[in-house]
Amino acid sequence: MTSYKLFVLPGDGIGPEVMAEVEKILAWLSEAGVVRFEVEKGLVGGAAYDAHGMAISEADMDRAKAADAVLFGAVGGPKWDHVPYDVRPEAGLLRLRKELELFANLRPAICYPALADASSLKRELVEGLDLMIVRELTGGVYFGEPKEIIDLGNGQKRGIDTQVYDTYEIERIGRVAFDLARKRRNKVTSSEKRNVMKSGVLWHEVISALHTREYPDVTLEHQLADALGMQLVRRPKQFDVIVTDNLFGDMLSDVASMLTGSLGMLPSASLGEKNPRTETRKALYEPVHGSAPDIAGKGIANPIAMIGSLGMALRYSFNLGDLADRVEQAIAGVLAKGIRTGDIAGDATESVSTAQMGDAILAELQAALA
Ligand code: NAD
Repeated sequence: MTSYKLFVLPGDGIGPEVMAEVEKILAWLSEAGVVRFEVEKGLVGGAAYDAHGMAISEADMDRAKAADAVLFGAVGGPKWDHVPYDVRPEAGLLRLRKELELFANLRPAICYPALADASSLKRELVEGLDLMIVRELTGGVYFGEPKEIIDLGNGQKRGIDTQVYDTYEIERIGRVAFDLARKRRNKVTSSEKRNVMKSGVLWHEVISALHTREYPDVTLEHQLADALGMQLVRRPKQFDVIVTDNLFGDMLSDVASMLTGSLGMLPSASLGEKNPRTETRKALYEPVHGSAPDIAGKGIANPIAMIGSLGMALRYSFNLGDLADRVEQAIAGVLAKGIRTGDIAGDATESVSTAQMGDAILAELQAALA
């Protein structure tokens, strides 16, 4: 049986608590002979700072680079609010993203029927929602130069950020989106602001040419980013894969996240360039939420976003789509039985612990694979 190398970085706060539930699933999958994982564990964020004085050690960076995929919990917390800037907890995540060249951020927004009432939108608008936002993660206005505040000498200052995209950056994120669409409902919506931005004109041109050249079988539509924001809350089920730049993707994926109810439900993946020899990509999977210091240590965090991130790793790093489907079905099955952690409990009087939720999902998965 193929064995996959997973590097696990639980991090801080609720990170280790939700990761423990993923580790239970990994252990069972290996024991039961479903898939074999070689799991190594490292330190990141505040935990790494306490041990090594840095947000991730060189040795752990090397392990991350050697792994088939990295599973990341969460970093940060008040304990490290005053550590030097370059070793702050988030620096560990940023370094991983940079050195693994993770340019594509995938954020699915799935609304499980059992949770449709937890959304800020009406049930009929979100029930069964399943869309994917593909955000460019390493370019655009967050990184473009010049990036500065200059003193104009007349009592005024000027803040400058530069939105810049090259053809290759747009093409490679476009390919990720089209490839994904082929495995889903075969539709891509590309979004920019070509009516007012030159980078938007180029984005539109490059995505259109890529579509004609390599993906004519996929349906492509273009929506201006402001209109898309409106459509996301008006009729979100019209979308399958949305591809957009770093800035618009940042905002639109947060809007999409609210469609699904709780932060504790949202997984994500960050992917790098495809290795032409192995056909695999560097990849890091993490929940969208942070370390939640307000509930850390209480054993009540929702592990679903972290378990969903494992599901994404199975699908996108290991090509185990069927097993990923089973993980998602196990989550849906547990929710349909009314099992809830506090964040998604709504008016229900009873909620379960992190470990009870993890055990319930594992039991559901075991039953499905028996
Ligand atoms: P957060 O996501 O940690 O928490 C926001 C709110 O959502 C809190 O009330 C929290 O209790 C709740 N929540 C989050 N995840 C949950 C879960 N799985 N189950 C139940 N409830 C959950 O965001 P924050 O409070 O703004 O940040 C806390 C710390 O996390 C900060 O140090 C921040 O820098 C860091 N952070 C890290 C990451 C990351 O590691 N990728 C992302 C965001 C924030």
